[in-house]
Amino acid sequence: MNSNGNVGNAGGEQRQDLLGLPRRKLAAALEPFVDRPYRVEQIFRALYERGVTQLDSMTELGKDLRQHLGTAFTIAMPEVATHSVSEDGTEKYLFRLSDGATIETVDIPEGRRRTLCVSSQAGCALACRFCVTGFWGGGRNLTAGEIVAQVLAAQQGPDFRIEGVNIVFMGMGEPLLNLDALGDALEVLTERISRRRITVSTAGVIPGIEAMARWAKRPRLAISLHAPDDERRTSIMPINQRYPLKELMEALHRYPTEPRERITFEYILIDGFNDARADADAVAKLIRDLPAKVNLIPMNPDPALDPKLKPPPATRVEAFRRRLISRGLTATVRKRKGDDVSAACGQLRATDREPRGFRRSNLRF
Ligand code: SF4
Repeated sequence: MNSNGNVGNAGGEQRQDLLGLPRRKLAAALEPFVDRPYRVEQIFRALYERGVTQLDSMTELGKDLRQHLGTAFTIAMPEVATHSVSEDGTEKYLFRLSDGATIETVDIPEGRRRTLCVSSQAGCALACRFCVTGFWGGGRNLTAGEIVAQVLAAQQGPDFRIEGVNIVFMGMGEPLLNLDALGDALEVLTERISRRRITVSTAGVIPGIEAMARWAKRPRLAISLHAPDDERRTSIMPINQRYPLKELMEALHRYPTEPRERITFEYILIDGFNDARADADAVAKLIRDLPAKVNLIPMNPDPALDPKLKPPPATRVEAFRRRLISRGLTATVRKRKGDDVSAACGQLRATDREPRGFRRSNLRF
């Protein structure tokens, strides 16, 4: 698969992936092949409403047309390498992509609703110290088709109702370093899922936030904060050196939000590192003038990571939450889900290669 979504076959010919093409791009790609505009609509619906994975199954198209399309296009659904189900019902898919790269996607049931945590890159170069994906190291950008295919694969499971789905770009990778594919994937996904039920989470890539600010239709924005000052944030998130907190906050103050829309600040609570009462006060001071809410995530330890990275006791997590609330913020604690199958936040990894590891640990406790 290359960055244009072209997939090579055994004969070395390139065929374009139909998945991930927004309607206008799909129409342009199909133009030399179809005689009537409604064919584009038929193909779009077959892909996303019926979840068709073979051109030959689009029987609403004539056989000749299907064969003709098959010379130029493919539907590149990834192979499900493994599918694990946690005791709490969380499902984790390990997908093998057409070039052998692997990614993970997590499907978290919540009553009649579900949250799909999707990946945007096959790895991540940002090396956050609390994240197993970061420990494995950078990988290539996913195409829009590979992003959309993660949702389509989950859609094939039983009890899937598109009406109850939330999508969070919190899987492997930094979505704002893959803006073009993200934009196309969102254009396809928002045909069926409200953009208010889609959240893009970033480690704070300011040019990406500024680009999103210019989009006419924006999904929700989440920021991985994780520490209230530059020194500690840089020690667990090296990207903070490039985009420090002052500049990040200035970008967020410029970011247009709709009435009642709030930016979510994700904050991983690490025992003895960022969980003091004074830290809650510092977080509140940092974001108090923004339309903000805070999502606290007790650290999910992993054998790949520094053993000092562990969650605080539940009483301290609750004290931190209450302190934020007393400072006028909305704060919730994310329930740990899927950790028995390494599907919890920060535990996703590539399996097609050895981890690159972190250059050196500079954690400051
Ligand atoms: S937390 Fe996100 S940005 Fe940081 S290394 Fe992991 S995947 Fe990359």
